[in-house]
Amino acid sequence: MTKTNKMKKILMIVGVLLIVVLVAVLLFLFRPVATKPVKLAGDETVVDMVLVGGGIMSATLGTYLSELEPTWKIQMYERLDKVAQESSNGFHNAGTGHSGFMEMNYTAEAEDGSISIERAEKTAVQFEISKQFWTHQVKNGVLGDPKTFINPVPHIAFVWGDSVDFLKRRHEAMIKSPLFSDMIYSEDKSEIGQWAPLITKGRDDSQPIAATRMDIGTDVNYGAITTQLINHLGKNSNFNLKVSTEVTGISRNDDGTWTVSVKNLVDNSVSHTKTRRVFIGAGGAAIKMLQMTGLPESKYYAGFPVGGLFLMTDNPDVVNAHTAKVYGRAELGAPPMSVPHIDTRYIGGKKYVLFGPFATYSNKFLKNGSQTDLLASATKDNALPMVAVGLDNLDLVKYLVSQVSLSPEQKMAELRKYYPEAKQADWIENQGGQRVQIIKKLPNEPAKLQFGTEIFASQDGTLSALLGASPGASTSPNMMLDLLAKSFPDEVQGKWNAKLLEIIPSYGQDLAKNPELLDKVRTDTSRTLGLVYTSKTQSTPVPQDSADVPEPTKFVPSPDTKEPVVEVGEESQTEPAA
Ligand SMILES: Cc1cc2nc3c(=O)[nH]c(=O)nc-3n(C[C@H](O)[C@H](O)[C@H](O)COP(=O)(O)OP(=O)(O)OC[C@H]3O[C@@H](n4cnc5c(N)ncnc54)[C@H](O)[C@@H]3O)c2cc1C
Repeated sequence: MTKTNKMKKILMIVGVLLIVVLVAVLLFLFRPVATKPVKLAGDETVVDMVLVGGGIMSATLGTYLSELEPTWKIQMYERLDKVAQESSNGFHNAGTGHSGFMEMNYTAEAEDGSISIERAEKTAVQFEISKQFWTHQVKNGVLGDPKTFINPVPHIAFVWGDSVDFLKRRHEAMIKSPLFSDMIYSEDKSEIGQWAPLITKGRDDSQPIAATRMDIGTDVNYGAITTQLINHLGKNSNFNLKVSTEVTGISRNDDGTWTVSVKNLVDNSVSHTKTRRVFIGAGGAAIKMLQMTGLPESKYYAGFPVGGLFLMTDNPDVVNAHTAKVYGRAELGAPPMSVPHIDTRYIGGKKYVLFGPFATYSNKFLKNGSQTDLLASATKDNALPMVAVGLDNLDLVKYLVSQVSLSPEQKMAELRKYYPEAKQADWIENQGGQRVQIIKKLPNEPAKLQFGTEIFASQDGTLSALLGASPGASTSPNMMLDLLAKSFPDEVQGKWNAKLLEIIPSYGQDLAKNPELLDKVRTDTSRTLGLVYTSKTQSTPVPQDSADVPEPTKFVPSPDTKEPVVEVGEESQTEPAA
């Protein structure tokens, strides 16, 4: 064979291989992703709501519904053997009760130097709704001792160098709002050192620093809230939880109901549940599950997973010297969820200090997911938008690569920017949950990467989903309220309205514009939840610190509270909370 013929043969083989790969890719992208309709006998019971996933979103929605419609039959499915083991778990997120006090990325600076506090106000109002929801649940015995899930921890925004001027102007803009009027500002190292000694000790005296402080800040254990809410739901005979049970299909029936197909992960048996409504509270997996429904709007979405890793310590010398959440400013080009912070955490009756998050990368949509998750979510509709978003966000890609390649020493160097005297031996790495950012491509619009959360509701309101992850768990009662309004507009305006006002006394009012109501709400929630707030009109004796939290001992990540006990795959109820 001549050299030219040999070359021709190689080119032909390469060409054929390329065509085979292209056909395989096209076949993969054009595969049907919607669940095939399931033929059911016709005489099966129809439940009122299926909640997919046992995280804080499903737990919160289930709790609202059990109060609004006590006779509704609600079925919850969780693929893991316990609830609250993904992002909602206490060790898998930062436990911040996001209120906009210290999150400087919520107060954007315009080119003319003005600072908009709108997003911070929105977040603060949403958290006031969360506190009202949890207060109502404590008063009704649904949630237990507030210290098991919420603790007073001042929220501090901390900056140095050129950012001092920004923080000063941010403070001036913020104290005009009743939501932030209690905010204190300081550039005095010794005063800031009293607020949070770790961040000033060992710091160069010549470095200009500044901080703001809000005493009404909180640390929240969302895993404990989830577990306690689901435990309580289990006391109602109309609620049923199946763990180790994965939802594998969601299809529409001719009569407008839905069939949810599930697999028992212990014995691999498959069964189906007919339901009037479905809520997809599957965390990072929600986008994949939305695709199963075959709803036309589902094709607008794709997901981009980013994990979070924290450094954690339980060394008593460190932990006892720090009762604060101290948020810094994100580095230039870094995504909003990467804002560094050094935080007090209370989990399972023990105090920790956490620093992070460092971004991590994996193709999984859930911490306990599969490496094929990202690829399996690609379809003919979202593949190009995914590529376009990747090309449009090269800064983010570069940032992720730089984060993933950080050595333990480099992570300590980041920590020392906030805690100059940190010792490596005190800290261990703790992999948190996965956040799946939304990639959305609407017709005639460019594909966009969204860092927030989005409520999806089908046009007839029978199928809804919670997509995205930020600000996340802290606003779950508000998000589920929005979801109720989207899916059940008539009920929310009508027969549910009085009950909703009982649960959320500020329902329908803008607390940013109503200082009297804000004071009333903050006084009531702070009293019940044990938070630090001085009422403008009433005398409010509230605790100054979580003094009865036991001294820290050795750090062992463990499930944060007593979990509901259920028989795998059986029609059983949860145990009441301890
Ligand atoms: C690193 C990090 C830090 C964070 N910090 C904060 C913070 O400080 N403050 C804050 O408010 N928020 C924070 N968040 C966000 C917050 O954790 C999430 O918004 C929230 O926990 C999401 O709750 P969820 O119920 O939607 O999802 P999850 O808690 O993830 O629950 C989803 C559940 O669905 C189950 N599931 C999935 N697929 C299936 C299926 N097919 N069948 C059955 N079950 C299924 C999963 O196993 C899981 O139990 C953080 C998140 C991360 C990752």
